[in-house]
Amino acid sequence: MKKTRVVLQRLDSYDRHPTKAAIEELLRPLGGISAFVRPGQRVLLKPNMLAGKGVEAAVTTHPEIVRAVIELAQSAGGIVSVGDSPGVGTPEQVAQRCGILAVIKETGATFAPFSESIRITPRSGTFHHFDIARDIVDAEVIINLPKLKTHQMMGMTGAVKNLFGAVVGLRKPHVHLQAGADKGFFALMLLELAEEIRPALTIVDGVLAMEGDGPGSGDPILLGVLLAGVEPMAVDVVAAELTGLAPETIWTLSEAKRSHRPWTSLEDIDLCGAPLAALRPRAFKPAKDTAVHFGVPKLLQRPLRRALSARPVVDLKKCRRCGICVASCPPHAMAIRNDRLHIDEERCILCFCCHELCPYGALHSQQGLILRLSQKFGRLRRR
Ligand code: SF4
Ligand code: SF4
Repeated sequence: MKKTRVVLQRLDSYDRHPTKAAIEELLRPLGGISAFVRPGQRVLLKPNMLAGKGVEAAVTTHPEIVRAVIELAQSAGGIVSVGDSPGVGTPEQVAQRCGILAVIKETGATFAPFSESIRITPRSGTFHHFDIARDIVDAEVIINLPKLKTHQMMGMTGAVKNLFGAVVGLRKPHVHLQAGADKGFFALMLLELAEEIRPALTIVDGVLAMEGDGPGSGDPILLGVLLAGVEPMAVDVVAAELTGLAPETIWTLSEAKRSHRPWTSLEDIDLCGAPLAALRPRAFKPAKDTAVHFGVPKLLQRPLRRALSARPVVDLKKCRRCGICVASCPPHAMAIRNDRLHIDEERCILCFCCHELCPYGALHSQQGLILRLSQKFGRLRRR
């Protein structure tokens, strides 16, 4: 198998001109932007616009990264649009709040509303169809612009997971519901979706990244790094190596290994640019595990569920009873009764969408005893 290239570049702030220069430098070993965009092509940029939070929260791709890529794609003759389907709020509200809408207007790009879904039928794979945004289907070139963050359910969100935003609005809970509590199955869906979308290029914003309990309310951390590559999985492998996140805790990566997909290890990757060792942070907090990783007999899984997994718990002091989590809970396991949020543990599929989407950080995960012990000993084993 031919190696695929992933490039690393240091960038310590989002100042406009240094950001654009760093992205040009980042793309040089890949042939520059003209290797991906030809004059007259419809180019769609897909940043992470999970929720309408300010740039300091490190939830969304920084607008200066988006600006630099718009300008480069335009300079190659591309007709550029930018869009995503957020978890909370309308795409336009979120784009406005995170600063991306202003950049779209200033550069003369177009806002892609991600309002209409089209059903696509993959030629092979487990999933018979995906309902994705027409804006994605209509684009001739897709440039994936993820934010590097931890992810409570999947371990990490980067190149592969960012493409789940192609699934429009309320169809996302439906997909979660199909996968249920089976994270491997959900990860497989993400892999097959990424293989259908096939972005031409991925550029990861890892300048101000997120550690801890991401992707919506973890802790921002200055990593000062950009990554780029053609194969989303390879880019994620390098991001995992950079942050020190254990590969077996990143579900898309472990599912890709299990299903013998390519580019799942550093040996398959031609690393270029800044040396990886020089970019590694001294420490990077993973998200709390939400399920044990060793095989537990099926018979025992249900009775031991509480001990084996994490569950969402509401902080009643922070909860404003806004109802956002209730509306997006895939199995309708949440309700507000008597001015208080209730979670039906029997119905809950442990997808942590509620944790991801709560704008007030009022939901956190509480690990069961066996899970806590397994995580502790797993960490000790890795030392
Ligand atoms: S937990 Fe968060 S999203 Fe859910 S009702 Fe409370 S404040 Fe709203
Ligand atoms: S309560 Fe939260 S974790 Fe459980 S199913 Fe609903 S959104 Fe998912």
